[in-house]
Amino acid sequence: MRTGSKLISIVVPFLNEAKNIPLLYTELLTALAELSQYRYEIIFVNDGSTDESARVAEQLSAEDSNVRYIEFSRNFGKEMATTAGIAEATGDCVIMIDADLQHPPRLIPSFVAQWEKGAEVVVGVRTKNRGEGLAKRGGSWLFYRIMRVISEIDIEQGETDFRLMDRVVVDAFRKLPEKQRMNRTLINWLGFRKEVIVFEAPARLYGEAKYTSRKLVRLAFHSFVSNSLLPLRLAGYLGTFIVLASGLLGFTVLIERYFLNDAFGWNISGSAQLAIINVFLIGIVLMALGIIALYIANIHVEVSNRPLYVVRKKNF
Ligand code: UDP
Ligand code: MG
Repeated sequence: MRTGSKLISIVVPFLNEAKNIPLLYTELLTALAELSQYRYEIIFVNDGSTDESARVAEQLSAEDSNVRYIEFSRNFGKEMATTAGIAEATGDCVIMIDADLQHPPRLIPSFVAQWEKGAEVVVGVRTKNRGEGLAKRGGSWLFYRIMRVISEIDIEQGETDFRLMDRVVVDAFRKLPEKQRMNRTLINWLGFRKEVIVFEAPARLYGEAKYTSRKLVRLAFHSFVSNSLLPLRLAGYLGTFIVLASGLLGFTVLIERYFLNDAFGWNISGSAQLAIINVFLIGIVLMALGIIALYIANIHVEVSNRPLYVVRKKNF
């Protein structure tokens, strides 16, 4: 009865979530029961777990033919685990979800409803993050802020990895060759019709967040650097500003002191003049760095090798 119907793929990356996986599985089944007109597959991606989770997930895949299991040889990080799951998914749409139940599976029917209404990407946007410290919340706020300002990527405050992608988006996503990747920003870079679903993230059920602050900061810097050239150009802007400002000052001092014979009585000392020359030269050096940065920016764009454009459809 379900044959021939659309297939929903659910991708779950996990690292040491032995206690959460059975609960997640149950909740997924409950949510999917509401979507009985669809076929589904659940793809668990074991990102180098060292606890019981491998056994738990493999057991599920042995018992349930809709459950597939991929195991990494070591921990490669959530972004890679999700990427692997997406690559294996065969569904008409793919939903990625965390294993720790911070992304409530009961929302899946609303994701699918938005998709059926024509959205190609449905993004879960989190309003509150229970159980997160002030530093993590502040850091996350700052991240979205900076991202919006410095990159061309349209990313809203609180956008999570809990998202649905239509098959066209998945196929485009799979062509992105970058090694340093943050899936969220890549998916947003692709464009497509996007809808959001707002939710309140509950506290993690069992275990601890696997993303340490260090990993998060590193991820944030990677996404700034791979999505924006502004940091590179800053040195150049600063240098230009310093050269202009100190040049103007130096010129004024020169006129006042040597052409007007200190008519205004500023009495600029020799060392002060030296300081102005010094600052001017520092400005020149920074400007030169800015110019080098332009070349690096060129190399950067070529090396990251993103497709030139992304096509939704072709009608010939
Ligand atoms: N995760 C993973 N590999 C990692 C880190 C995390 O697969 O190296 C999984 C983790 O098991 C969970 C999801 O990614 O299913 C989100 O991780 P976490 O809860 O630690 O992140 P946060 O909720 O703090 O964003
Ligand atoms: Mg979590």
